[in-house]
Amino acid sequence: DLPEMPPCKGSVYINKVGVSNLEQLYIHQGHMQWLWDVDGRRYLDLFAGVATVSVGHCHPKVTEAAEKQLRKLWHTTNIYVYSPLHEYTEKLAATLPDPLKVIYLTNSGSEANDLAMLMARLHTGNFDVITLRGSYHGGSPLTMGLTSNAAYKYPVASGLGCHNTMCPDVFAGPWGGSNCRDSPVQTIRDCSCPQGSCTANDKYIGQLNEVFATSVASRIAAFFAEPIMGVGGAVQYPKNFLKDTYKLVRERGGVCIADEVQTGFGRTGSHFWGFQGHDVIPDMVTMAKGIANGFPMGAVVTTPEIAASFAKGVHFNTFGGNPVACAIASSVLDEDGTQQISHDVGTYLLTELAKMRDKYEIIGDVRGKGLQIGVEMVKDKASRKPLPPAAMSEIFEDTKDMGVLIGKGGVYGQTFRIKPPMCITRDDADFFLAVFNQALHNYME
Ligand code: PMP
Repeated sequence: DLPEMPPCKGSVYINKVGVSNLEQLYIHQGHMQWLWDVDGRRYLDLFAGVATVSVGHCHPKVTEAAEKQLRKLWHTTNIYVYSPLHEYTEKLAATLPDPLKVIYLTNSGSEANDLAMLMARLHTGNFDVITLRGSYHGGSPLTMGLTSNAAYKYPVASGLGCHNTMCPDVFAGPWGGSNCRDSPVQTIRDCSCPQGSCTANDKYIGQLNEVFATSVASRIAAFFAEPIMGVGGAVQYPKNFLKDTYKLVRERGGVCIADEVQTGFGRTGSHFWGFQGHDVIPDMVTMAKGIANGFPMGAVVTTPEIAASFAKGVHFNTFGGNPVACAIASSVLDEDGTQQISHDVGTYLLTELAKMRDKYEIIGDVRGKGLQIGVEMVKDKASRKPLPPAAMSEIFEDTKDMGVLIGKGGVYGQTFRIKPPMCITRDDADFFLAVFNQALHNYME
């Protein structure tokens, strides 16, 4: 089903500087875990539009739900209510623990985090926000201030009441994996404990206390963190780090926000929400990406108490929670088995990749949970210095040429990221492992 396409080398480049350095790839069609380019080449998509296509490209049931709604009602904005909105918000609320039951629908993750930050400031009467080094929370002027990685910042006003996005009212906190203060490529495995269960918590809580002691962050509005970092390179925190941090932030009057833009909707495998793996209940949860399988949508879910502080003004969002988005998001929630696939195939991939880590000197770390996986590449295991960009690109391109699309992340772009649609099979995993193994072998030769 491939039409005649014009040559791909136009003079207009859209998103030329994207999250990947792949030679511009013109994608024509998608089905479940597969993508086809304009030349008819098929790729196994292990990046899913950055963890966004949650249940599969053009998933038949989701497409059917969208088509049905498109014939009925597209839009009224939130001046009226409509049944897809009711149906969806009830279903979404049922996935979250009490008291997280008040839902605001937006169109993207940045919008959701903007809104969460506004609510936190209104509710607490405080201004300062703490995020973690290596974090990414959005590309809007406000959320750019929350994002710690300088690569995603522009040196212009952040909208945070200061001169640039490196502003002093947002503090990149203690833990940032590869972006850690002590070493250019420090990862959780530097503590030589099993990945995901690092116990070096005191060190990072100590750094957080330093932030409190040496800055105006004693009046905190909010602490933002992903349950497992996404763009930062699948960085996991020491055991109890989030739990202890939530306590410290709350003692200082702040609210705790879980950015589940990447980790939500079963992606971490063992839990539907990433925060559930940390034994915490946030005051707000922000979400987007996988919420609607690639259709633009986001949400903030919070408590009635925080919502009451916000209710003093009028919140308006023209497209947020439109009927089509709600119908699509609803059918995503109806899809059975995605979390299980994430758990089973993710665990298999993590186990097999760990074997490759032991085999290859240039794999410094394999980490993550479920289908939120990072493979950190190093020059060698002793120096733990990041594998240079040119080498990363060589492996990346080779993998693509053999028919598999993966992502890149980490502060130095040194971490390969694997976060496929949650419909992949064990055979797909084996195909990827063979291709990746070959690409590493080719590079080492
Ligand atoms: N939070 C996280 C954790 C993200 O990964 C992203 C996007 N990469 C965002 C927020 C921003 O989402 P959006 O691009 O939909 O605005």
